[in-house]
Amino acid sequence: MTADIAEAARVLSDATDVTLLAHVNPDADALGSALALGLVLHRRGVAVRVSFGAPDEVPETLRDLDVAGLLVPAAEVPAAPPVLVALDTGSVGRLGPLADRVSTAGVVVVLDHHVSNPRFGHVNVVDDEAEATAVVVLRLLDELGVELDEPVARCIYAGLVTDTRSFRHASSSTHEVAARLLAAGVDAEAVSRPLMDSHPFGYLGMLAKVLGRACLERDAAGGLGLVHAVVTLEDAAGLRPEEVESVVDLVRTASEAEVAAVLKELRPSHWSVSLRAVSRVDVREVAQLLGGGGHRLAAGFTATGPADRVLADLRTALTRTTTP
Ligand code: 5GP
Ligand code: MN
Repeated sequence: MTADIAEAARVLSDATDVTLLAHVNPDADALGSALALGLVLHRRGVAVRVSFGAPDEVPETLRDLDVAGLLVPAAEVPAAPPVLVALDTGSVGRLGPLADRVSTAGVVVVLDHHVSNPRFGHVNVVDDEAEATAVVVLRLLDELGVELDEPVARCIYAGLVTDTRSFRHASSSTHEVAARLLAAGVDAEAVSRPLMDSHPFGYLGMLAKVLGRACLERDAAGGLGLVHAVVTLEDAAGLRPEEVESVVDLVRTASEAEVAAVLKELRPSHWSVSLRAVSRVDVREVAQLLGGGGHRLAAGFTATGPADRVLADLRTALTRTTTP
């Protein structure tokens, strides 16, 4: 691990042109990590671009992190980048339409915290005990001898506060990391509120519809219980991806269910499914059975077809994972 960080620092110190990629539908950890490292390299005179394969729009809540204008559309990512850094990307496929750059790039550096990462780079800094990729990036910045300032610290904090669910899943050393970020000038409430606690009024109407149709299946998941909800394109019309992504945080509060699932319609009959567990079911295993991945208590997969069939496949995978 230490040797990998030193090697990643060496590659980036020698680079003059660096492309940083987040996974598709980037969250605050993926994009915050990419922008923190990108900003540091940009200030050192490196030609830097930050991008992701899909969708075309940058999530509104993450735009303010890009203080140096480093974000470019996927179409502007070079066909063969000299140095490519993939962040928070547990597998090549999670780069979506930009996945081919892994084979055309000169050097690929992987910075991640997914246990299932196949280490698809030439240099791989993968720590599955890190609560966020942002923690891995901060270690790399320390290796590079970077002095933290507010814009960089804010990007790291955004990844950390979201992936740890407001520091619920953070070790004591990660709380110390948070203290460092606050000391560098981060305003915790100003960063967190737009990311987690602020939605347009239309969100409430969408929730009323979607949560009103939610189902509890007490016998599913080997009797541990499954709660699920479906967000169709019609439900989500006029709202941002941020509103749709946060539905699972409400569905998961149903105390009768160990596992929560939210089916989010991307295109007609194309679904991105979010899975969450309280503590006893490894939803990464479930997601992997269905072609996805993630972490033990937060994972996901994509699926096509009618929602009922996606749910039937999910029940089967849950039974396989929870039956001894
Ligand atoms: P979310 O439900 O917030 O979209 O994703 C939770 C976690 O599951 C993410 O951090 C990511 O690790 C993983 N994940 C979500 N969707 C997919 C997917 O389609 N494929 C893979 N491999 N992992 C996913
Ligand atoms: Mn992450």
